[in-house]
This record gives sequence, structure tokens and C-alpha cells, in this order.
Amino acid sequence: METFEELDDWHRELRSHFPILTDGPDQAYLDSAATAQKPRAVLDTVQHYLTTANANAGRGTYTWANATTALVERTRTRVAAFLGDPAPGRPSGVHFTSGTTEGLRTIARDWLPGHLRDGDEIIVPFADHQANLLPWLEAQQQLAGQGVRIRVRELPYDPASHDYDHRALPALVTGRTAFVAATHVHHVYGGDMNVHRIRAAVGPDVPICLDAAQSVGHLPVDVGGLDVDFVVFSGHKAMALPGTGAVWARNTRGAAFRPGGWSGTPNTCGIASLEAALDWLDAAGTDRIRRWTTALAGRLTDGLRGCAAYRILGCQQSLAADSTVQRREGIVTFRHRAIPSNDLGFVLASHGLMVRADGHCQGRAGESESSVRVSLHAYNSPAEIDRLLAVLRSL
Ligand code: PLP
Repeated sequence: METFEELDDWHRELRSHFPILTDGPDQAYLDSAATAQKPRAVLDTVQHYLTTANANAGRGTYTWANATTALVERTRTRVAAFLGDPAPGRPSGVHFTSGTTEGLRTIARDWLPGHLRDGDEIIVPFADHQANLLPWLEAQQQLAGQGVRIRVRELPYDPASHDYDHRALPALVTGRTAFVAATHVHHVYGGDMNVHRIRAAVGPDVPICLDAAQSVGHLPVDVGGLDVDFVVFSGHKAMALPGTGAVWARNTRGAAFRPGGWSGTPNTCGIASLEAALDWLDAAGTDRIRRWTTALAGRLTDGLRGCAAYRILGCQQSLAADSTVQRREGIVTFRHRAIPSNDLGFVLASHGLMVRADGHCQGRAGESESSVRVSLHAYNSPAEIDRLLAVLRSL
């Protein structure tokens, strides 16, 4: 309650920046883990770029081409600074992608095989988003075709909290552990996966790749504090245009990350939108965004726990923001005990409540049954949560 009162003015002002929300007040967009809505500053930046400087980057010597090349290089530095990199470009680097899937796949295809030797082991998550599992398994297969055998081990989970089992992890680490992939915030259970604890378990030399699709733009992400080697995220989930994303690479453990092949024309207006989105997020304050979305998630979990018909997946409590155990970010996933989740999704949609109801692209060890996911951002309001709860209670 305190958070809502304290941040009420901030929230009202901020919500007014989203034309899609102010033009459709009867609709409650509760699917920001899939993609986020765009503030006017991002939309205006795209319009401005396309009407004043649209050209290709890294080719041409005329004004618009130079402006576009400068935009792309400036946004690389902007992404690194947004992630807390104290010295962008020295030796770290930023590579633009269409999203997290392409970013992880590029690391698995262009960097990982050269880093691994016969008999090496990698530790990867089997119940996170499949974008953070399939590329590693494909790399294993590709290497097997070349006679290089890699052992893939499952990053262990604690079944009660759905956090990683950080106590079990050290026992999996051997002298051949050469790479770890993890997820910052779980896209189904909403838990902060305490990835800052992985470095101590794996030692100083093992590269760690972080899927930050559900954290960048939602909470402060600091590559220094996390001591990871890759941060991969989707710009479109952080309020930039669809088809945007980036890989930040530290480039100090193993070879430097140099995506292979000719990648062609970059998504220049997407990159312009990404720069504007990061500026907007910094001005809004990712620490305040986190407080707000955590409080909204708490309101929803508290409301659902009072309803016997619903079961919340993952951590059963809305943990306080300062919890050292596990923090639930702005994602709450649940099932009705009798109504199939897909049907529930249609019912909610008929009330203007836009949620996701399916299996959420979870990896091999994920839930076998679909569920309803409510995922929140700074623009969502307590009134929207109350509307959702009223409909859920009426069923
Ligand atoms: N990783 C996580 C944790 C996600 O939540 C998602 C998307 O939902 C992805 C990866 C894939 O992101 P994209 O579809 O932008 O490539």
C-alpha cells in the first residue's frame, strides 16, 4: 500500500506517456513479459529518425548515412552504460539482434563451439524459456558431428521456490565445466533467480551467459555486481520496437565475442527506438519500476491466495522486496482448479483483460499443463489488478 501511495503521482504521469493505453482505457494490458508497450518518446523518436535521417549504417558518406552510423555506435555505448558497464567497448562489446532468442543462438553458434574442447561440460537451465535451452543443445549436436563430445548438465532448481538450487550447484562443477547459462528473472514463475550467487559456485574463470529478457527494463541490471560474461535481452520487452535486442559481451573470459557471417543492414529505426527507450527507462527509474511492479504482483498474489479456486505457480508468497530468499518480480502465473487455462484466457479477454494463457515456451523440464500468466510493467495500475481479481473471483 505504501508503495502505491508514495509512487501514485509518478505512476499517473508515466502512464499518460502511453498512447495505446490512454486511447483504450477499457483494456488492461497484462502481457508485458511477451512485449512491452511503447511510450510516446519512443514513437516520436522513430518518426523523427525516419523523417529526418533514414539511411543505411556503415555505408555511404553523406549526412544521413553518417548520422545513422553515429546513432548505431552511440546506442552500443548506451546499452553498455544502461547495463552498468563502467568502460563500454574496452574490451566489452554490444551486438544488436532481433531479440533474446537470436542473441542466445548467436552466442551458441558463433562463440561457444570455439570455446569448448572434447570432454568439456556446460551447465544450462532446462525449465526456463526454451530460447535458453535449445541453442545450447544444438551447439552440443553440432560439435558431436565434428567428433567433439560435450556433456550438458542441468542447472538444478529448488522445487519449492523454483529458484535455482544454489546449494546443489557447486557439486555439479568440475574441472571440465566450461560454460554456464542462466536466467535473471523466470518468465513463468516471476522469481529473481539469484544469479549473483552463480559466480561463487563456478569459480572465477567460467563464462556465464545471462538471459535478461525479463529483467532489462524492469529492474536495475548491473553487469559488475552480477559478474556475468554475456547479458542478452529483447529491446521490444524494454519498450523499444519489435525486432530489437542486444548481446552485451564482457570479452575477458575466453575469446572475444565476434558474431560470424555478414549480417547485412541493421535495424536502424529499431536501434533509434532502443536508445530512446533506455533514456525513457532511466528517467522513469528502473528501481521505482521494480518497486511498482513488485507491489502490483503482491496485490495480485494476496488476492489470489484468498481464492481457493486458484493455485499460484512458483513461489507461493509475495516476498518482500528486501527478501534475501527469493523475490517475485512483476510476473504471476496461476491455474484455476477446474477451468482450463486456455478457456480462462478467453474469458479474461472478453473482459478486456489481456493475459497470456498457454505453456509460455518453457523448456523441456517445464510445466506440462498450460497456465495463465499476468505480467506487469510500470504502466499497470492497482485498479487493473482489482478488475482482474473481481473477474477471477466471479468465476
Ligand atoms: N527468454 C526469456 C526469459 C523470455 O521471457 C523470452 C520471451 O518471452 C525469450 C527469452 C525470447 O525472447 P524473444 O522472443 O524476444 O526472442
